[in-house]
Amino acid sequence: MDERGVIHMEKRLKKDKDKKQEQQKLPLRRVIQNNLFMLGMIHSVDPWLIPLRLGMSLFVSVTYFLGSTYLLQYVMNAIGEGKGFFEILWMAVLFVVLELSADLINNAFWQLYYEKRRYAVGQKVNLKIFEHADRVELACYENPEFFDKFVKALGEADGRALNVLYNVSGILWCLVNLGLCVGLVASVHPIFLLFALIPLVTVPIRSKYQKQTHARDMEIRQIDRRKGYPHRVFFVSEYAKELRLTKMPTYLLKYMKDASETCRRIHAQKGGLLTALECACIFLGNVFPVALTTIYAVYRTVVQGLMGFGDCFVVLNTTSRISGELLDSVEEFMNFRNNARYIETLREFLEYQPRITDGDQPLPGSGDIELRHVTFQYESAAAPTLQDISMTFEAGKRIAIVGANGAGKSTLVKLLLRLYDAQGDITYGGVPICSFALRDYRDMFAAVMQDFHLFAVSAAENVTLARRTEGDDQRIIEALKSAGIWDKLCEGGGGLDSCMTREFDPAGIMLSGGEAQKMAIAHVYAKKNRFVILDEPSSALDPIAEYEMYRTMLDACSDCGVIFISHRLSSAVLADKIYLIDGGRVAECGTHEQLMAKDGIYADMFCKQAENYRESACEEVSA
Ligand code: ADP
Repeated sequence: MDERGVIHMEKRLKKDKDKKQEQQKLPLRRVIQNNLFMLGMIHSVDPWLIPLRLGMSLFVSVTYFLGSTYLLQYVMNAIGEGKGFFEILWMAVLFVVLELSADLINNAFWQLYYEKRRYAVGQKVNLKIFEHADRVELACYENPEFFDKFVKALGEADGRALNVLYNVSGILWCLVNLGLCVGLVASVHPIFLLFALIPLVTVPIRSKYQKQTHARDMEIRQIDRRKGYPHRVFFVSEYAKELRLTKMPTYLLKYMKDASETCRRIHAQKGGLLTALECACIFLGNVFPVALTTIYAVYRTVVQGLMGFGDCFVVLNTTSRISGELLDSVEEFMNFRNNARYIETLREFLEYQPRITDGDQPLPGSGDIELRHVTFQYESAAAPTLQDISMTFEAGKRIAIVGANGAGKSTLVKLLLRLYDAQGDITYGGVPICSFALRDYRDMFAAVMQDFHLFAVSAAENVTLARRTEGDDQRIIEALKSAGIWDKLCEGGGGLDSCMTREFDPAGIMLSGGEAQKMAIAHVYAKKNRFVILDEPSSALDPIAEYEMYRTMLDACSDCGVIFISHRLSSAVLADKIYLIDGGRVAECGTHEQLMAKDGIYADMFCKQAENYRESACEEVSA
């Protein structure tokens, strides 16, 4: 299976490979745009960072040239021209001091200025990514391609922007040094400039090397996400129980091993080619031109006597430097293109247009929510989950949605909250809900879902589900009392400040399933808004406790529209109207009495459930 697991993973990755190779061919315009995009990010964090970094690069490269290459030539020539010792010495001291001060200033710039800005730039890109992830529709989270792009984008967040700046200042450094060195060698004999050009034949080889490395990195990043899944599962406390009670750890560790093996194979596959390309570059770009220059310079000096030893020395030193700077500038230009490839994945992620769009109409002061002939199908589903649904949620009324598991009740709630958009009309106060600003529209609901999660922050913030502000405390305490969880929080002495979970605090509170549901319900008490949605937040409660919870909640929310979902019908009797969903359609609708009188699916379910409760109650009594 090891072999098969790895091969299967490789096949899946190969499918996207052609597409990715296509994506690697970025047009020049996009290459420039991508780099400018990243520089724009840096500029928005600190407008001085780019000019200072480039200025520093220019200053250091000029002083470096003066202090090393030019000083050498000056000293040699000065000796040849018979200049005095002190004249040469003072000049040399001047150049060295200049180079040293440039180094000192450059160091201070890095330590006192640049390093601090580095984090701010990384943070800015991370924020942009997470803000965008928050805007995209829920369906994206069911799409592996989205996750791949998300992971790749995050991979670029911390370092890529500064890589671009590093690259641009590298280009500047190379061009300045190149210009100065070319001038120096040309003044001795231009033929040596030709030798310095030989390493340029390695440019296509280097380009191939970079393309191969990029393709390998992208393939590996995709597998990293797969490798990351077991990491995440082992790390998150929600899975800790299942891992201990089942054989999942063995399976997941093997899954991780397969992913590592795939990475190893990819490295091995590319390893030979990359090494060969690297060797070709070293020979053609370094060994061969240096040998040629040395032979010719020594020949001209020793055999032909056409060059002095000083010139010979300068030529040998500077010609290879020209080659180096030439190759470096070519490499920097290739890095410019290469950076653009990586930035492309980030921009693809950020440029994805969320399908759930914002409108700009103001919300009416109040109104009913109406659904007319609404049909909805999940992207991955073969058939619609909800079909031809028409219903009304009146302001201030209590509406129960009931039905068997999988009937489509939660899906309906997701449509109401615009987590998905459906076919058909959903209006609020007679206006299509897509006309309103998404945040404003969603904000008129206080909702608790069946698969809610507590956050590893304070109890108070788990109630507000936002940053706690001054003056909130009394409202939060009342909400926790109404939900019946305040005493539990006070037991530990932490009260509102109790930290939920032990992820960050060893004294953090661990709640049972039912207690956690009460925390979630406290949010609804605290937020109470035009509409309250309760999507079975009571599965851990027994039917009587559930009934009590709904009764108290409905009393407290008498001025809100309440939409509550349950597959237990004992609580539905509290509703002004009940919709029974069956197979994705509204099968029955009316008050409890009307539906019982109808003697249809609802009445049948109600009687069966009532019978079960009676039997279990009898069993408890007789026991
Ligand atoms: P209920 O709340 O009535 O138990 P749901 O609305 O959660 O039912 O689910 C209705 C159907 O839609 C189920 O068959 C479920 O498998 C399917 N479903 C739910 N979520 C998704 C999803 N994200 N993608 C595809 N199918 C889904």
